[in-house]
Amino acid sequence: MDLKQYIAIVEDFPKEGISFKDITPLMDNGSAFKYAVDQIVEFAKDVGAEIIVGPEARGFIVGCPVAYALGIGFAPVRKPGKLPREVVSVEYDLEYGTNTLTMHKDAISPGQKALIIDDLLATGGTVDATIKLVEKLGGEVVGCAFIIELTELKGREKIRNYPVKTLIQY
Ligand code: AMP
Repeated sequence: MDLKQYIAIVEDFPKEGISFKDITPLMDNGSAFKYAVDQIVEFAKDVGAEIIVGPEARGFIVGCPVAYALGIGFAPVRKPGKLPREVVSVEYDLEYGTNTLTMHKDAISPGQKALIIDDLLATGGTVDATIKLVEKLGGEVVGCAFIIELTELKGREKIRNYPVKTLIQY
């Protein structure tokens, strides 16, 4: 299935110069959404995922159905102040300023095999911070999966040697 037809490209959103890749038409279409999730489920099986880790908010949309299909857990990665119990945090650089992501301290058990899932890989800053969170908790990152990869931004270089799966490239 050609998934690209279900991605809406919105120029200059949320600000000038950004070519936003909107996955909501894909989510709207039951067979396209199922096809995309199924591809990632197969990758999750191949890498032996024991838990799915997804950054807010679109990592939840893509990651949760994968966890459900495999009958494994899902651990959310959120901005500061959103998770109610004790967290670990990682700060990372943006073009202007910094961002922080957090996970609950007990979200992953030592040695647990984690697959990180998000909608889109751009510069790789988000996934790099998420890898660090999982490793702080003693988890083992077995791979990273995304529906979309913006290849020019070279996010893969940040993911180093972890297996990566992307379904659509721009
Ligand atoms: P990055 O940390 O640069 O790899 O950016 C990845 C995160 O930002 C993902 O959670 C995406 O949802 C979001 N994102 C970055 N660039 C875009 C884009 N062009 N279109 C849609 N989402 C984007």
